[in-house]
Amino acid sequence: MITTPLIDDDGAAFWEAAGSGRLAVQRCGACETPRFPPRPMCPACRSRAVIWTTASGYGELWSFVVAHPPLLPEFARFAPYPVVVVELEDEPGLRVVGNVVAAPDAPINSVDPATLRIGLPVRAVFAEIAPGVVHPRWMPA
Ligand SMILES: [Zn+2]
Repeated sequence: MITTPLIDDDGAAFWEAAGSGRLAVQRCGACETPRFPPRPMCPACRSRAVIWTTASGYGELWSFVVAHPPLLPEFARFAPYPVVVVELEDEPGLRVVGNVVAAPDAPINSVDPATLRIGLPVRAVFAEIAPGVVHPRWMPA
């Protein structure tokens, strides 16, 4: 079984963009503050206005952990594997959680966590993890 994202109204544009190989950034329609994950209200000004822009897809590792069991059975078979937090190059302060992989469709344990370091340049890649569900992931740039 593949766990797929729950696509709600707030995140639909993010997933739609991922489906066409773009990393979308939700931002406030009033003050333009970017935010992740997508949500209905701006944390800076409380506006509910939303606009979407496309990020370059480049960033650097801001932090990471190495996941070990206990994990959901679907993920336990890949352990240990890194889970990363990437700060986007063109959106300083905006951080996205994900996995780092050796190739777009490689398993989430395809990069040895010992090779990762804070500040490692990465770029977004996209993989269809289930029919019609495209996930952004990260590869060393
Ligand atoms: Zn705002």
